Amino acid sequence: MRQPPSCPDPRCNGAVLWKDTSTTATGEDHWFWWCGSCKRKWKPTSEQLEAFRYGPSGRRSHRLH
Ligand SMILES: [Zn+2]
Repeated sequence: MRQPPSCPDPRCNGAVLWKDTSTTATGEDHWFWWCGSCKRKWKPTSEQLEAFRYGPSGRRSHRLH
């Protein structure tokens, strides 16, 4: 399993980014990296979109709840 990237902002000291899937209702690739340190969202690269489409912290969006 690939590790999520860390925040590109040096002030965050390599804080690991979280996969924010709150916007995937409009498409599976419409998600962002979210930094818990600076609270900013970062756009994933096309390679990251591919590698993290179904993980590690995200799930396929289906509304069974
Ligand atoms: Zn940050």
